[in-house]
Amino acid sequence: MKTAFHLCMLALLFVGPQKEQVWTANIDQIRHAARMIPGKAPLHINVVKFAESRRTKNFSVKGAPNEPSVQARTVFQIVYADGYVMVDSGMDQQVHKFFGRGVVEPYDAESAKQVERAVRGARAILVTHEHGDHVAGVIHTPFANELAPKTILTRDQVQTLMTNPQMPEIKLTTEAASRYNIVDYEKYLPFGPGVVLIKAPGHTPGSQMIYVALSSGKEYLFIGDTAWHMDGVRNVKGKDAPWIQEDENALMPQLNWLNGLYKTERNLFIIASHDDEQRTDLI
Ligand SMILES: [Zn+2]
Ligand SMILES: [Zn+2]
Repeated sequence: MKTAFHLCMLALLFVGPQKEQVWTANIDQIRHAARMIPGKAPLHINVVKFAESRRTKNFSVKGAPNEPSVQARTVFQIVYADGYVMVDSGMDQQVHKFFGRGVVEPYDAESAKQVERAVRGARAILVTHEHGDHVAGVIHTPFANELAPKTILTRDQVQTLMTNPQMPEIKLTTEAASRYNIVDYEKYLPFGPGVVLIKAPGHTPGSQMIYVALSSGKEYLFIGDTAWHMDGVRNVKGKDAPWIQEDENALMPQLNWLNGLYKTERNLFIIASHDDEQRTDLI
C-alpha cells in the first residue's frame, strides 16, 4: 500500500502541470555578451522625437494620477565611428493616425523626414517590438524593399506581424517577411561590439530590450514599451490601458529586474521609448 502511494506521488510529480518559467536576466552575462564581438564600441546615442500622443498618466502607470502626460514617439541611433544602427524605425502619418483613436495628435513632418533619412542611412535597423509606432518605418514605407535586407526582426516579431499585426498597414505576407533578416535566440544575442539583444516577451510576444555599452563606459538599456513611463520602473507598476493586449504576468518580473538595476547601477541609463520627461532630462 505504502509503495503504491509513493508511486502515485511520483507519477504526479512527473505529469503535474509544468510551472511556467519566470523571466529573469543577468546584467553581468549581458555585459559579457556585449564584449563577445570584436570591434570598437559605439561612441554615442542620438534620439529623435517625431510625434506625440497625449494621454493622462494613469494609462501609462497603474494608479498614477489622472494628470496630462505626453507620450513621445521616438527613434534612437547607436553611433559607431564608421556608421550607425537604428533602434526602431518610426512610422508614417497614416499609422500615426491609428494611435490617435479619432483624435488628431501632433506629428512633426520635418522630424519624420529626418527619421526616414536616418533609417535609410543606417547600416542596420533593430526594433524593440512589433508595434506600429516602432516598426512601421521599415514596413509601411515606399522604401521597404531597400530597408528589409538591413533590418533584423526576430522570429516572434515576424510571427505577430504575419498573424496578428497591430494594424493592417504593418501586416507581413510570407513573401514580404522573407526579405528581412529573421533571427531567433533563447535569451541574449550579441549583435555587434557593445550591443546585445535581450529577449523580453510581455508587452508583445516579440518584445526585446537592447543593451548598449559605449566606449566611454556609459551603458544604456532600451526597454521599448516594457514601461511607457519610467515611473512604471521606479514604482514597479504596469500600465492601465484597456486598448492594448499585453501579458502583465510576464511584465512584472521584467519591471522588478529593471527596478533593481535602476536603484543600483548608477552608470546605466534605462530608456523607455515614450517617456517624454526622461527624454528631455537626458538631452
Ligand atoms: Zn508598444
Ligand atoms: Zn510604442
